[in-house]
Amino acid sequence: MPYRYKYYVVKREMCKKCNGSGYLMHPIWEKIHEENPTSLTENEIKEYFKKYGILEVPPEWLECDICKGSGFITEYVPLIDAIKETQSQLT
Ligand SMILES: [Zn+2]
Repeated sequence: MPYRYKYYVVKREMCKKCNGSGYLMHPIWEKIHEENPTSLTENEIKEYFKKYGILEVPPEWLECDICKGSGFITEYVPLIDAIKETQSQLT
């Protein structure tokens, strides 16, 4: 980040990829739920993953790769920009 300004504030926004939960469902788990309205047995799940070359069943939920599980995106923005952006909300 080029330090053009002296003052910065931290901008904190909800992560759009995981909707603030910090977790994403494993894509193959997602497929399993979509294709199977009734729950599968442990063995059926194992077989399902085997089809994709995955021998060990991974956790259903993975930490979001965008926000690293925090549910938020934080970045430094110049204070002047933050003031401009929020000015209408101040009055
Ligand atoms: Zn996220």
